[in-house]
Amino acid sequence: MEKRCLALYSGGLDSILAVKIIQEQAVEVIPLYFCTPFYGFTALRDPEAFRETHVQRYGIDVRVKDFTETMIQIIRTPKHGFGKHLNPCIDCKIGMLTEARYLLKTFDASFVITGEVIGQRPMSQRRDSMRIIEKESGLTDLLLRPLSAKRMPVTLPERTGLVDRELLFAISGRGRKEQLLLAQRYGIKPEHVPNPAGGCLLTDVMIAQKIQATFERYSPELPPREEMILDVVGRRFQLDETTVFVVSRDEEENALLSSLRYPGNIFFKIADVPGPLCIFRGVMHRDTLLKAAGICLRYGKARGRQGHTALYGSDPYAMNQSIEAPVFSNEYCRTFQIDEGTHTSL
Ligand code: SF4
Repeated sequence: MEKRCLALYSGGLDSILAVKIIQEQAVEVIPLYFCTPFYGFTALRDPEAFRETHVQRYGIDVRVKDFTETMIQIIRTPKHGFGKHLNPCIDCKIGMLTEARYLLKTFDASFVITGEVIGQRPMSQRRDSMRIIEKESGLTDLLLRPLSAKRMPVTLPERTGLVDRELLFAISGRGRKEQLLLAQRYGIKPEHVPNPAGGCLLTDVMIAQKIQATFERYSPELPPREEMILDVVGRRFQLDETTVFVVSRDEEENALLSSLRYPGNIFFKIADVPGPLCIFRGVMHRDTLLKAAGICLRYGKARGRQGHTALYGSDPYAMNQSIEAPVFSNEYCRTFQIDEGTHTSL
């Protein structure tokens, strides 16, 4: 067996420690970071910057893998169901580990590690779920969890002496005390210790609602990734059964939306006065166009006679069409809004 392994790297403390523990045993570790619009969106948008941050903070050189297409399929029919909201954690882990297994050959690696800790998460880190994950990803005997290894059956890399089991750990449960001590031992600065779990937008009730509506809108087909991305930014409005409209909430989202120049996305903004950047996606006809313009104008800072014209086009920096429209009231806008539980169109 090669003294090289792959790691399922989440950027959380446990996965950082798992990498460090195995590196300490002179095994080369290649960390894989699977990202989607729901988890790891920053890395999805700028993999190089993400890589750089993790090299600088932790000395860990990550390979960023876009997992969006697989995740869309998983969300439609997760064999093991959902967690509290739209998070199919067991299937998600199985999917990532299956891809890691395929990559073993590519990287000439012999096994896979994760930062999982028995009993830490209600759904995917119970002992029985961990066994299912191992089995269904095809990694039984090749999946090592360094933080909890001593509470689990011996794996092949331990049996063959590639990894010394005695130097592994028997951590379990939700506490972080032992992990924080390990972080100190590996010289991780306190300000760089990641906060405990979180960050997967599929566990957010509002976002889950938007994603669910998108799946329903495309059913029986799968929604494209461009739609999924629009589900995780801005305020979202449903103009009719086929058309959505997203309005940025601040400067940062303005910048983000302007980078989403996918076929089918039409940008809107208010002519001449400051206001948000918006994206229209769906079927454009007089009714949807007027609704989009009315919502866009509502979020402008114009007063009096100004702010009644919206510009639109496929290039956010050169919108070449315009429409005059009435400015919608706040209450009327909310009848189209999906992400505050007021969605009525589906
Ligand atoms: S929270 Fe669950 S669904 Fe989200 S990335 Fe983690 S394992 Fe996957």
